Amino acid sequence: METIVFLGIQGSGKGTQALLLSQKIHYQHINIGDLLRAQIAAQSDIGKRVKSVIDAGNLVQDDLIFELISSSIDPACPGIIFDGFPRTKVQAEHLLEHFRVKTVILLELTEKIAQIRMGARLNCPNCKATYNKLSKAPKIDMICDECGSNLVQRDDDSPEAIQKRFEEFRLQTFPLIELFEERHLLKRVPANGSIEDIFAEVCRKLDLK
Ligand SMILES: [Zn+2]
Repeated sequence: METIVFLGIQGSGKGTQALLLSQKIHYQHINIGDLLRAQIAAQSDIGKRVKSVIDAGNLVQDDLIFELISSSIDPACPGIIFDGFPRTKVQAEHLLEHFRVKTVILLELTEKIAQIRMGARLNCPNCKATYNKLSKAPKIDMICDECGSNLVQRDDDSPEAIQKRFEEFRLQTFPLIELFEERHLLKRVPANGSIEDIFAEVCRKLDLK
C-alpha cells in the first residue's frame, strides 16, 4: 500500500499537516501516539501490553508497534499517511520492506521557533480544552473559554523539556533522515510559516494540485 510519511519534531505541526493531507487525498491517517492511547483506553490485549511497557518507563517495542499498525490498517483506503512512525531505524526498515513509500516529508523547525510555539501552548486542566497564546488565545488571559478554569502550561513544554526533546529527536531521527535520503525519498519542508503555507508546500512536494 502506498504511504507518505511525516517526520518532524513535536511542534513542527506534522499532526496537523498529516490530517490536512489525509482529508485532501483520502488516505488513512495513522498517528501512532493516538493509536497507542486508543488501545490503552479500550483496554485491549495490545493496549494492556503497551500500558505495562509505558508504566515501567520503557519505550514500546518495535514488534508491538508493527502489530498495532497492521491491526489498524483500513484496506478500503487507497494509502496511508504515517505520523509518529517510524521512530527507529528498525521501524524505518520495516516500513520500506512492507509498504510502498512514496515520499517522506521532513518538516524542519529551528529549536528557537519550536520553543516559542510550544511555550505558547496552554491547556485547561478541567475540561482539557487547548489554547495557544499565538494562534488561539483564550478570550480572557489564562482563563478557559469553555469552563472558566485557570489555564496551565504543560510541564513538557518548558524550555528544558523542549531542549531535551530536540536532543532525542536529533539522536533518533538523524539516522532515519540519512536512510530516506539515500533512497531519494526525503523532501524537506520549512515548518515555520502558517499552516496554509506549509500545506501548500507539502502539496507542491507531492505534486498535488
Ligand atoms: Zn476548561
